[in-house]
Amino acid sequence: MFLGNFRLETPLSYPADLFSTLAVRGGAAPDPATGAVLAPIYQSTTYHQEAVGVHKGFTYSRAANPTVSALEAALGALEDTPPAVCFATGMAAIATLFLAILKAGDHVVVSDVVYGGTVRLFQQVFDAFQVTASFVDTSDSATVAQAIQSNTRLVFIETPANPTLKLTDIAAIANIAHDAGVKLAVDNTFLTPVLQRPLDLGADITLLSTTKYIEGHNSTVGGSIATRDEALLERLRLVRKTLGCIQSPQEAWLTLRGLKTLPLRLQQHCSSAQTVATWLEQHPKVARVHYPGLASFPQLPLAKKQQALHGGIIAFELKGGADAGIRLMNTVRLCILAENLGAAETLITHPVSMTHADVPKEIRERTGISDGLVRLSVGLESPADIIADLDNALSQIELTKEQQETEACLAK
Ligand code: PLP
Repeated sequence: MFLGNFRLETPLSYPADLFSTLAVRGGAAPDPATGAVLAPIYQSTTYHQEAVGVHKGFTYSRAANPTVSALEAALGALEDTPPAVCFATGMAAIATLFLAILKAGDHVVVSDVVYGGTVRLFQQVFDAFQVTASFVDTSDSATVAQAIQSNTRLVFIETPANPTLKLTDIAAIANIAHDAGVKLAVDNTFLTPVLQRPLDLGADITLLSTTKYIEGHNSTVGGSIATRDEALLERLRLVRKTLGCIQSPQEAWLTLRGLKTLPLRLQQHCSSAQTVATWLEQHPKVARVHYPGLASFPQLPLAKKQQALHGGIIAFELKGGADAGIRLMNTVRLCILAENLGAAETLITHPVSMTHADVPKEIRERTGISDGLVRLSVGLESPADIIADLDNALSQIELTKEQQETEACLAK
């Protein structure tokens, strides 16, 4: 593990130390010019070249920037890979990955439950370039094997998936993809490399929206890709430079700062989410709670196998369906109705009208993204206060007589 100018004496005991030392120090060394402990913000478009073709590795900030490189080294240290490649947003990372790997006529197998922007990318952008995608249930390995075609170049999975938290067995899908000569990429935004290690489970590429837990303070947007494939890293940097979608130095610096407390924050997010999910599950107005840390979670053995802890996101449905869910989201006061997740503030989201509005209705219905689904990103406030807010909002929801009768029938 490279830690700037020193190395760890003892091997990491994952998950017990939750990568704390790497998060704080990985890839970092004091600035050689000034001794500054933190990487400075290099707010410079261009760089002096001592002679034609002679420079210090930086020429123009669309290609590379020293503050962005510091973030890339830190994320690479955490992922146990060469420096990552950082982007302006998570979507820029996803789009660049596809553009780096695919050509016209190629095909991708994608999890049927993924962030809505990934669906929009295929259905409203790449469709014009003869790149096709099959959205399949990647929690079922046989379905993935069947979906791979002779022109499939990539399997792209999200686990836990946004917003229903459905899991995909990374090791099983890596085997299936590799048997077919296809690469596997994992969107690890919900858990980060601190809680789930896709590359160690056999994936070729791991991708993060750093907007979420990595930066963690609702202050930036950003994305990153890590891989041990040097040729792919070079190709990603070339496509990024050509498209012009590199992370900015200010955002990279804020993300570096957030990264230092990632393991600490995640421990609290996970413990509070477990508390809130357990409370929600016993509430008489709650029909169903999806959280991989609950005994009722249908894929509990897989959650225990590939996740160190289960993250800070809960999805749930209320008795009374969509009307009740929307009423709850409009009534909460501490929880903030907003798009985003993984931040210090507890955020409540209505996937159907917000993050997944562009996902076609038939896909949403097939995959459990119901009109009444509520996504809760449990923040760092006291869990007691989050529960009190939800309790207050739930107490204001009156089920109509008809809804009560429906619920009574369903309960039979
Ligand atoms: N991947 C996942 C799982 C997400 O939830 C999101 C955004 O919500 C993205 C990717 C896209 O990231 P960004 O919003 O940084 O572009």
